[in-house]
Amino acid sequence: MKQKRFFLSESEIPTQWYNIQADMINKPMPLKNPATGEPMKPEDLYPIFAKECCHQELDMEHRWIDIPEKVREMYTYYRSTPLVRAYGLEEALGTPCHIYFKNESVSPVGSHKLNSAIAQAYYCKQEGITNVTTETGAGQWGTALSYAAKAFGLEAAVYQVKISYEQKPYRRNMMQVFGAQVTPSPSMSTRAGKDILTATPNHQGSLGTAISEAVELARTTPNCKYTLGSVMSHVSLHQTIIGLEAEKQFELAGEYPDEVIACFGGGSNFAGISFPFMRHYYDGTHKDTRYIAVEPASCPKLTKGKFMYDNGDEAGYTPLLPMYTLGHKFAPANIHAGGLRFHGAGVIVSQLLKDGLMEAMDVDQIETFQAGMLFAQCEGIVPAPESCHAIAATIRRAKECAEKGEKKVLLFNLTGHGLMDMTAYNQFLSGNLVNYAMSSEEVEENLKKQNML
Ligand SMILES: *Cc1c(COP(=O)(O)O)cnc(C)c1O
Repeated sequence: MKQKRFFLSESEIPTQWYNIQADMINKPMPLKNPATGEPMKPEDLYPIFAKECCHQELDMEHRWIDIPEKVREMYTYYRSTPLVRAYGLEEALGTPCHIYFKNESVSPVGSHKLNSAIAQAYYCKQEGITNVTTETGAGQWGTALSYAAKAFGLEAAVYQVKISYEQKPYRRNMMQVFGAQVTPSPSMSTRAGKDILTATPNHQGSLGTAISEAVELARTTPNCKYTLGSVMSHVSLHQTIIGLEAEKQFELAGEYPDEVIACFGGGSNFAGISFPFMRHYYDGTHKDTRYIAVEPASCPKLTKGKFMYDNGDEAGYTPLLPMYTLGHKFAPANIHAGGLRFHGAGVIVSQLLKDGLMEAMDVDQIETFQAGMLFAQCEGIVPAPESCHAIAATIRRAKECAEKGEKKVLLFNLTGHGLMDMTAYNQFLSGNLVNYAMSSEEVEENLKKQNML
């Protein structure tokens, strides 16, 4: 095992986030009001999100956005996260490529999600909000928000997708340890939940159902705002701390990535690690870098979904988003990478994919765990099932380059550790994991069933 790690000193940690919307040539299409179909202004989003986040969401003008001092101070409690040269993995693959990963698993909650949770909790507190709600699938975002809410003295209510609430009790406990109230979704505590449960008793829940419940609670509770862990552009903005740090760390390493690879749920970690490098596409200094988003073959919105306006949730409460989607009533297979089981994609990333500025790849579940095993054995870190998708794609690319004798610098984002996901590894080790790949025909059938085509 041989690694080399690159760190920044406290004063080198970025003081601003990068807003790619200011540089994009084709801006994202507007969000639309689900009731009227009218384009939304920041004020129209106030009932849901903290005001500052609403402005960041639709800001097409300011390239750099100051990180509030208190947020940056909290970043310094776990940042910079290491940029690591994975010599061990390179050797095991016999590749001439240089493989680097950005290790976001070192945050107190074990994933990159904290980067936005801190910012969102901060803006809520600033505005005089007392309560926050959210949804969580695998539990990573719920844990991050619970921790951040506690840090700012906010009360947090988390709707956890029912199947994950039951299958991942330790995740639920972790949110409770940080002081949050956790409810399995769908529940009888909201109108949306009641509707879902009366139409489908025993519904196992999805991110779509949990978002509906959390949004409804925020809208019907005074002094309460909703927070979201991915998809929205302000979340992607907060995550750019990852790529901005990585850029400086690459200077220390004396290299520059040829390919940036990240797993894809709603797009926030992909955005976070990619956009700061992509700004050098816009300023003309690095035109040839490739950006690869990696999704599960069982939830293939980027590779097989359709670009259209769709809701972010089951009940249709969220703004209509112009995005690649499988339809908001799509129920993905129960893969272990719970954080990647979302039907849609962020609007910025969707526009970039449409414009050919990035690529998408899908991988089957078993290949991702094989990749995770190899990575753990070479680098000593058990990766989250979501992160295993980025690792699998990196391994594919490193092998392809080896065959062609190409020496590329590959960077992937290690979004989280898998220490809370050992049930998934146990299933893999006992040979009980299966693939759930969807064909383009199945995706189309499914969209038709939802009356979306
Ligand atoms: C939530 C999550 C993801 C996927 O979400 P994105 O918004 O697409 O980044 C990936 N990895 C981990 C560990 C997560 O918790």
